[in-house]
Amino acid sequence: TEKFKTGLSKTRDSFTSKVNDLVARYRTVDEDFFEELEEVLLQADVGFETVMELIEVLRYEVQKKNIKSTDGIQALISEKLVEIYEKAGEDSIELNLQPKGELTVILFVGVNGVGKTTTIGKLAHRLKSEGRSVMLAAGDTFRAGAIDQLQVWGDRVGVEVIKQSEGSDPAAVMYDAVHAAKNRGVDVLICDTAGRLQNKVNLMKELEKVNRIISREVPNAPHEVLLALDATTGQNALVQAQTFKEATNVTGIVLTKLDGTAKGGIVIAIRNKLHIPVKFVGLGEQMDDLQPFDAERYVYGLFA
Ligand code: GDP
Repeated sequence: TEKFKTGLSKTRDSFTSKVNDLVARYRTVDEDFFEELEEVLLQADVGFETVMELIEVLRYEVQKKNIKSTDGIQALISEKLVEIYEKAGEDSIELNLQPKGELTVILFVGVNGVGKTTTIGKLAHRLKSEGRSVMLAAGDTFRAGAIDQLQVWGDRVGVEVIKQSEGSDPAAVMYDAVHAAKNRGVDVLICDTAGRLQNKVNLMKELEKVNRIISREVPNAPHEVLLALDATTGQNALVQAQTFKEATNVTGIVLTKLDGTAKGGIVIAIRNKLHIPVKFVGLGEQMDDLQPFDAERYVYGLFA
């Protein structure tokens, strides 16, 4: 929880101070107040549709409850924001992990530079500290240095990395990794993939092939396809998500670098626009800077 708090400080500082400033300037809730609030929410990247919905709901509540003063309006904003977020989907943020003794395969997708490798390392650490054995598969055979970088994380966390040489067929790496994981009785295999987005057809083909190998070797796998998105890229992250959603069956989002942006509202925009749960958020570069995403804790944290 402390991590969550410090990780969100940029968004909190910017958003909270702006709302508090509004409340101080407008003692009564009127049209001008709503208009400025709308602006503050948009600046935090909450997303146009969500902002419109929120303002509408707030207007309605204010009228119904005959609220005149802006005093304590922050609590009402939080409450309605959480309601809107939760309304967008009931699906759980829990990982679909198989019972112990059965192999779970998690596939990671995302564009280069978003923090995919770091997130894989953090998740491996998290699962390992929960008592699961973990193995990594270096499926990004395209980007120079990707394999070594994954190995560095493997060493840091203390998990084995299955790899081949740069330029080799990612599907072959997956095949090897699945068999190694089965042979060693590993609980969770986390697979990296190449993050090329320039050519959507190639991306689709590669992910299809990798998926096919994995599902052939392990029934119902991959059990999760997690998309890493960089929170600091704002609306660009939404565009990437749309592309990956079309290319493969994304089951969850990991929003990285949330600590690096004041526009943390992007979490809400992504959830509401894509209808894919945000399962984890990245709040720093260290091993334990990956947190499960809890909307309530997040939104209330903004004003805490
Ligand atoms: P990849 O190309 O997608 O595999 O990205 P990397 O894992 O190499 O990460 C790119 C950079 O982002 C590195 O410098 C990471 O330390 C940094 N990074 C990754 N996740 C986070 C995060 O949650 N917060 C911060 N502040 N930096 C992060």
